[in-house]
Amino acid sequence: MTGTMTSTPTTAAGSRQSVVSARDVRMSYGSTEVLQGVDLDIHRGEIFALLGPNGAGKTTTVEILEGFRQRSAGEVRVLGKDPAHADDAWRGRIGLVLQSWRDHRRWQVAELLQHFATYYPDPRDPEELLELVGLTHRARHRVDQLSGGQRRRVDVALGIIGRPELLFLDEPTTGFDPEARREFHDLVERLARDEGVTILLTTHDLAEAERLADRIAMLVNGRIRICGTPAELARRAAAQAEVRWTAPDGAPRRERTADPSRLVWELHRETDGPIADLEVRRPTLEDTYLHMVHEHTAGTAGTTDARDAADAGTADDTALVGAGTGEERSA
Ligand code: ADP
Repeated sequence: MTGTMTSTPTTAAGSRQSVVSARDVRMSYGSTEVLQGVDLDIHRGEIFALLGPNGAGKTTTVEILEGFRQRSAGEVRVLGKDPAHADDAWRGRIGLVLQSWRDHRRWQVAELLQHFATYYPDPRDPEELLELVGLTHRARHRVDQLSGGQRRRVDVALGIIGRPELLFLDEPTTGFDPEARREFHDLVERLARDEGVTILLTTHDLAEAERLADRIAMLVNGRIRICGTPAELARRAAAQAEVRWTAPDGAPRRERTADPSRLVWELHRETDGPIADLEVRRPTLEDTYLHMVHEHTAGTAGTTDARDAADAGTADDTALVGAGTGEERSA
């Protein structure tokens, strides 16, 4: 076993041990507040995806959690410590997957891992590590002779060689082909399921977050708009249906409702004859995400609704859902 389950100060809520907890974290660059009160809780052994478009504040958030940036305000605990005042012992318990291969392109893969292993008190065995990341057959190759996906696996190997309890993966599969992406996802899952590593993944790719994450937090314009398991988020997105029809006077109409069959029944009672162009749509999680991203890229004015809706709490989260292009059903 890896020793990753060794005991650490417990701030458990129930039986779940908190690895990352952030409360009302704010970050300003000059007069611009790019994090506007971020709350996060990540539990031991979980794959947690921080999802958001470019510029949302993902890197800023992660660098605050890694101790590389000083936040402007808020409370942060990572592995029981404030990263702003962390020491080397704490650093040894977290793993960063950087684009390290660029600095070591002329090294042989096996030699590179053996070299890095000397930096840690209790490193993984380089041969076992090669096996784990699927690079045994490339052990004697130079790093610059590897494919993009294989280089990324070298980066992961370097990130986990010191047996971190918490691994930060920043946009891990950008530029991968589908095959490399699938292999990489398998590796990330093995690290979490078999080795108990807690993983914080940042991505702008919803499909990647849905595929890998136990829970997803959507960060848009410096705030977490919604957070939950992929299934919970999909259910919430679909909780409000959009009903469209053409009124007897020829005007297009649409209404959002949690009870579309009742709305259709009422329409039917009021309408003398069939309801023209009737459609009931259930927004998907992708609709929700794209809608929020659209608001973000449309400029700050467009974010007001999303912010208000998020502030109003869980029940109103589906208010974030715009006109869906999701599953269509006849009522
Ligand atoms: P993401 O990782 O989601 O793309 P970032 O955290 O990199 O987002 O950036 C969030 C916002 O903060 C962006 O508008 C970006 O331009 C701004 N930003 C990031 N770093 C700095 C910095 N050092 N100085 C000024 N603005 C910054």
